[in-house]
Amino acid sequence: MSIKVLIVDDNAGVRRMIRTHLDIAGGYEAHEAENGEHCLKVAAEVRPDVILLDIMMPIMDGMEACRRLRDDPFTASIYIIMLTAKAKVEDRVEGLDTGADDYLAKPFAPDELLARIRRGNKIVDDRRIALFDQLTGLYNRRSFDSFFEKELARSNRYDSHLSVILVDIDHFKNVNDTYGHPVGDEVLKVLAQILQDSIRSSDFACRWGGEEFVILMPETNLEAAKKKAELVRQVVADFSFPKVGHLTVSFGVSYPGKDEFAKDFFERVDRALYKAKDEGRNRVVALLPGE
Ligand code: GH3
Ligand code: MG
Ligand code: MG
Repeated sequence: MSIKVLIVDDNAGVRRMIRTHLDIAGGYEAHEAENGEHCLKVAAEVRPDVILLDIMMPIMDGMEACRRLRDDPFTASIYIIMLTAKAKVEDRVEGLDTGADDYLAKPFAPDELLARIRRGNKIVDDRRIALFDQLTGLYNRRSFDSFFEKELARSNRYDSHLSVILVDIDHFKNVNDTYGHPVGDEVLKVLAQILQDSIRSSDFACRWGGEEFVILMPETNLEAAKKKAELVRQVVADFSFPKVGHLTVSFGVSYPGKDEFAKDFFERVDRALYKAKDEGRNRVVALLPGE
């Protein structure tokens, strides 16, 4: 697999020169952006492994772009190499403080740049292993915990909505028992894809563990979260899984009460899910704080 590199520089000549080095070396897929704002847009679209980031650019400079990339969970793990003529110690310090991983002063030796990109790509692989579930490619539990903490703080600060949907496959044990574990794994992958395709880009779909998934929905009230869960429930119920055919899924939905402990909140979401199971599965149950 080639290494995706996003070259961000307002100077088209510099972009072309770097692209040429990458093309000659082979094994790289180059993308370009001409300022910080453009960089954020392209980074969200192509999910590069490594960004080569110029500092002085019009509209949005590299420092600001770097800060924003780090702030967004979808771009936070990208390896950022600042590439600039500004080579003073203060500039390097500022660059590293904003979250850059590495720093290379222009003019640079092409071989050194390539070596740094390769090293960055290895580091990004390790970061991804720490953030994502290996089987489904969704975020793992650990990522969920850190998103939740961040989003909860934000919703308290701005008094905005935040909902959580817990998802559990019905009678999944039967799938394993009947078709074997590898087929069960395929079901988990396909369901993960359905969840990912059903949510907005601001929502987080995570593997909670085993055959359970969790969706974190910032800026979303309980009604909207219930609606989303109901929609996913229907999509899954209508879907025919390879080899297995039809399956159903149960959902627990809630939102954290004011100053509620995370532990109490998740206990309620879990209770909502158990209620859905108890009431016959293939359904959505929502509980309000205090219920
Ligand atoms: P319920 O409707 O009550 O949720 O029943 P269930 O059978 O889905 O629930 P139970 O908790 O009894 O079983 C969950 C099963 O999920 C058991 C376990 O073997 C299976 N499982 C957990 N993780 C994986 C996995 O990564 N791959 C596969 N294939 N199966 C898994
Ligand atoms: Mg289950
Ligand atoms: Mg379960």
